[in-house]
Amino acid sequence: MHSCLRCLLFLSLLMLAACAGPASLREPREPAPSLLLISLDGTHPDYLGRGNSPNLDRLAREGVIAQWMTPSYPALTFPNHYTLVTGLRPDHHGIVHNTMEDAALGRFTLADRTAVGDGRWWGGEPIWVGAQKAGLNTANLAWPGSEADIAGVRPTRWLLFDAKRSLSQRVEIVSGWLTEPAATRPAFVALYIEHLDSAGHTYGPDSPELAGALRRVDAALGELFARLSRAGTMDRTNIVIVSDHGMATVPAGQVVITERMLDPEYASLVSTGQVVGFNPRPGHRDEAERALLGRHEHYECWRKEDMPERWRFGRNPRVPAITCQMDEGWDALPSEHAARRGGGTRGSHGFDPTLPSMRAIFLARGPSFREGITLPGFDNVDVYPLLTTLLGIESAEHDGNAQTLLEALRDSGL
Ligand code: AMP
Ligand code: ZN
Ligand code: ZN
Repeated sequence: MHSCLRCLLFLSLLMLAACAGPASLREPREPAPSLLLISLDGTHPDYLGRGNSPNLDRLAREGVIAQWMTPSYPALTFPNHYTLVTGLRPDHHGIVHNTMEDAALGRFTLADRTAVGDGRWWGGEPIWVGAQKAGLNTANLAWPGSEADIAGVRPTRWLLFDAKRSLSQRVEIVSGWLTEPAATRPAFVALYIEHLDSAGHTYGPDSPELAGALRRVDAALGELFARLSRAGTMDRTNIVIVSDHGMATVPAGQVVITERMLDPEYASLVSTGQVVGFNPRPGHRDEAERALLGRHEHYECWRKEDMPERWRFGRNPRVPAITCQMDEGWDALPSEHAARRGGGTRGSHGFDPTLPSMRAIFLARGPSFREGITLPGFDNVDVYPLLTTLLGIESAEHDGNAQTLLEALRDSGL
C-alpha cells in the first residue's frame, strides 16, 4: 500500500550520495521538478488522436499515454477527482456522490459552496495536504476539494471554481505559478477544466460541438506549454493529464421518471441521474424494497450491503440504503426536471465504470517520465502513488498499486 519502499530507496540513494564525499555534496543541485496535474473533466480516450488535439497528441508522443484509465464507482466528477488525489475509493474517502447526505452534516451538492468548502466532508489525505505537510508549496486552480480545509490544511494558493474564468485566464494563472522563481514556485500545481464535460453533456460525445470544445481546450494547453517552454520551465515540470470519467451517448427520450421508479411517499430521493439513491421513509422500508430491488427494464437496484463487490461501494454511511444503477444511455430524473430537458441526443456518465464509454484518459510528460510509452488500461486509484513518488513524499494509506505506473518512469523516477 505505502510507497515506503520507494522512500527507503530514495533515502538510501541520498545516503550513498552523501557517502560519495564532499565534492558531490557541493555540486549545485537543480531544484526538483514541479508537478502539474491537469484534469480535463469528462474526456474519453477516443477523443484523442483524431485531429482535434494536436498538443495533447504531441505530449503523449513525447511521454506516456495509457490506453485508458478505469474510473472508480460511481463514475461521477467529485468522487473520481478526489480518488485521483487520494488513491482511495469513494467508499473510503467519503465523497460517495456529487449529491449526498450525512447524518451529522446534512446535504452536499456541487452548488452548495458551504458544503463543498467544509473539510468534514473530505476524508483521507489529498496529495496537496501531504505536500504541504512535507513543507512543499502547492497551488490549486479549482480541483474539487481544494477549497476545503482538509485536516486543517489548505493549498498555499487556491482559487474557487468559476465556470466564467476563461481558458486563457487559467493558462495565464498556471503558467505564472510555474514560472515563478524557485523560492516561491509551487512544487505541485493542479488545474481543473470542465469544458469537455459540459459539451459532452449538452451535445453528446460524438457531436461537432464536442470536437470544437476539444480544439479550444487543446489550443489553450498548447499555449500553456509554449509559455512554459519559452520560460525554460517545460523540461523541469512533470505534467500529468487525467480525466475523471468518459461520456456515453444518451439518445433523445431515454429518461426514466424517478416517481415511476418509486412513489415518493415511500422513500426520499437522495440523488438522481445515473446512480440513484433512495432512503426509505420510517415504516416504509418493505414497500420501497419491494418496488425497487432487483432488475428493471433500464436499471437495477440493490441494498447498500448487496452492491456488486467489484464496485467496492456500499460500506460508507453516506451511501443511501438503496442504490439504483441506470443502464448505459439512460438517465433517471424527477418529472419536473425531465419536462425541462430539451429533445435531442445528449451525453451522460455515472454508468458502470467498467464500460468502455466510461473510460478516462491518462497522459504524462516530463523529466521523470520515459518517452513514447503506451501503457495498458489501469485503475484510477493507482495515480496517487505516482504523484507522491514524483513529489518525493510519503504516501498516506490508499487503495492503489504503486507498481502500476513505475514503468512510466525513467530510472527510479526521482
Ligand atoms: P457532473 O457532470 O454532474 O459530474 O459535474 C461536473 C460539473 O460540475 C462540471 O461540468 C462543472 O460545471 C461543475 N463543477 C466542477 N467543479 C465544481 C466546483 N468546485 N463547484 C461547483 N461546481 C463544480
Ligand atoms: Zn466529471
Ligand atoms: Zn459531467
